[in-house]
Amino acid sequence: MSYVGPDFDPPQPRRSRRRPLTVAVAALVPGALLGWLVYETVGGSGGGSEDAVGTPTSSSSTPASPTRSSTPSTSSTSAPDDEKPSTAPTTSAPAASGPLKGKVVVIDPGHNPNNFQHTADINRKVNIGTGWKECDTTGTSTNSGYAEAKFTLDVAHRLRTQLEKQGATVKLTQDGDRTYGPCIDERASIGNKADADAVVSIHADGAGAGQRGFHVILPGKVKAGSADTGPIVAASAELGERIAGNFVRVTGSAPSNYVGDGTGLVTRKDLGGLNLSTVPKVFIECGNMRDTKDAAQLTSSAWRQKAAQGISEGIVSFLRG
Ligand code: ZN
Repeated sequence: MSYVGPDFDPPQPRRSRRRPLTVAVAALVPGALLGWLVYETVGGSGGGSEDAVGTPTSSSSTPASPTRSSTPSTSSTSAPDDEKPSTAPTTSAPAASGPLKGKVVVIDPGHNPNNFQHTADINRKVNIGTGWKECDTTGTSTNSGYAEAKFTLDVAHRLRTQLEKQGATVKLTQDGDRTYGPCIDERASIGNKADADAVVSIHADGAGAGQRGFHVILPGKVKAGSADTGPIVAASAELGERIAGNFVRVTGSAPSNYVGDGTGLVTRKDLGGLNLSTVPKVFIECGNMRDTKDAAQLTSSAWRQKAAQGISEGIVSFLRG
């Protein structure tokens, strides 16, 4: 993830809302109920993970492809794991039809494969309403060197394909086509200016070995400076719950065993990308790159396809109401 700075605040307990949320997700996504409840019983709790702001070890090996990658589908489980980032335009053509026709979804692939080469630029502080944070961070990587920034772009491309099939207009905040960033305040403003119906920021975590599972991060209520999340808190929570429920169902992954008390949901007030959003937005940490079992999933193209499908179905569920 690497958006956790020195001012990291432990995620807030959500016990008071845990049961209603679980019930809501179960009602919305019956297929997720069994897995959800099973994971509820085994989910642990703990503090937040430490950020891994180290330099990815394999970031320079794969220059961007000159063409957009072939569109992965739900049955495309044999795509190579070293699929290269796309350089296609970041905004899709208006969809002709589909249940999401007229809907705008912004996908924010966390970090940037080139960030590690621009340390001074990404360390510049930007205002997030409640304070100041680094413009952007390098992101983490697996122990074998698969960079989070590469993972986020790959999942973003797969997610874009899924959403476009549903008729949505999709925009990426970056597509491996920038020298660094964008900064977290710009990532938020891209969704705002697009008047997006939903925004999801894709990440994978850099926690300790043995800490496993995904979690969705929801914006807390913040009103300070240019941050005012009051109008988006409820809708973002619904978006996040739908994504979490569908992610469980499609990937079979368990909610995090180290944050969120087994719910897969965490609320935070320290993330600029959420604080500055004026449209429904969540982050998803798809797994922990520093755990070998999670890493085996994150480095699998077949699993990433499922991850994208789960996120997509959550967004579709949210937008169709
Ligand atoms: Zn990240």
